[in-house]
Amino acid sequence: MEPNDLGPISKEKWKLRLGPERYGVLREKGTESPFTGKADLLYNERFGHYLCAGCGQTLFLSRSKFNSGSGWPSFSGTADDAAIVEEEDTSIGMVRTEIHCSRCNGHLGHVFDDGSTGLRYCVNSLSLYFVEK
Ligand SMILES: [Zn+2]
Repeated sequence: MEPNDLGPISKEKWKLRLGPERYGVLREKGTESPFTGKADLLYNERFGHYLCAGCGQTLFLSRSKFNSGSGWPSFSGTADDAAIVEEEDTSIGMVRTEIHCSRCNGHLGHVFDDGSTGLRYCVNSLSLYFVEK
């Protein structure tokens, strides 16, 4: 299913709900510029949960967040593997693994296998919001 396949929620409703910036990332697979992170999510070190900005599903936990230097919030693992769906993405002439929310299908970012350092979930901050726990 493509993110633009909105099911029962119309494109217009998503736009209203998310606002133009979040809509562009979550529903149109956009990528925010590095180091432009929404609010302070990129450097956020507080304890809590990172939820999908589209539907509120918990996607990542603060304990797996790390500073990758990439300019996007990065996580070494998911809060629950069932919350995230992986899909091959060949859109920029290379093979990457796109990740999206299993509940609303919103685009999140990509996951990379960095070999010895493990997995890196590279996530647009516009796809997330943070709840302190
Ligand atoms: Zn979602």
